Amino acid sequence: MNLQDERDFPQRLEAIQARIAAACKRAGRRTDEVELIGVTKTFGPDAVREAWEAGIRILGENRVQEAAAKIPASVSGPEWHLIGHLQRNKARQALELFTVLHAVDSLKLVEQLARVAGEIGARPRILLEINVSGEVSKFGLTPEAAPSVVEQALAAPVLTLEGLMTMAPFSPEAEQARPVFARLRDCRDRWERQFGISLPRLSMGMSGDFEVAVEEGATWVRIGTALFGGRPRWKPERGSEDVEEREWRLE
Ligand SMILES: *Cc1c(COP(=O)(O)O)cnc(C)c1O
Repeated sequence: MNLQDERDFPQRLEAIQARIAAACKRAGRRTDEVELIGVTKTFGPDAVREAWEAGIRILGENRVQEAAAKIPASVSGPEWHLIGHLQRNKARQALELFTVLHAVDSLKLVEQLARVAGEIGARPRILLEINVSGEVSKFGLTPEAAPSVVEQALAAPVLTLEGLMTMAPFSPEAEQARPVFARLRDCRDRWERQFGISLPRLSMGMSGDFEVAVEEGATWVRIGTALFGGRPRWKPERGSEDVEEREWRLE
């Protein structure tokens, strides 16, 4: 959405759902195979309420600290997903706040999650983040490193490995993302065969490229700006501690 978009939230949501449905149709998929995750990062509890009242049931946050301030202050009901990178020392807090973790990206994080989940009785659903584009600035496992982490996750009875997640490199041209999404699907198909398992979830596609992602098999699309509008451009100062919380308060 651009900032001049005057449609209200339910209309924007409806337009996005229609685009998802059209992409499903082009790809010969059923519309109910794709769920929209509303990404509320940098927005406050009012946006959470707006999304919930418009019928969005899954919300995504990319930072644990921000979510720890926001979720308790928000309407209850949404299923919260952590879509951003998780540091090991925040595993416990993340498990207390989130149902699904999309960006699990190391053997050590899997070990930590399994241990802490066992301690506190959590049963998290996880996705492994795969860096299929090879962009060095990105988090995520390489396709070469991932199988041993798949194995490790499968060996932890408290974790449910549901699938894979990726971020396409930023580009104004959505088609640029297509090979990245296709490669994530290929990884999924390969590891399903290799391990004899089912990995039903593919978390891929954001505001700029969700239709391409749906055509390539996404089951979760993560939509922020197209729903909520532009995020504030404020950048935290280096070294300050509560930056993550301040970031979403500053609108
Ligand atoms: C912010 C974010 C999104 C949503 O991005 P938009 O382009 O605003 O839709 C999706 N996934 C992750 C991991 C994000 O951090």
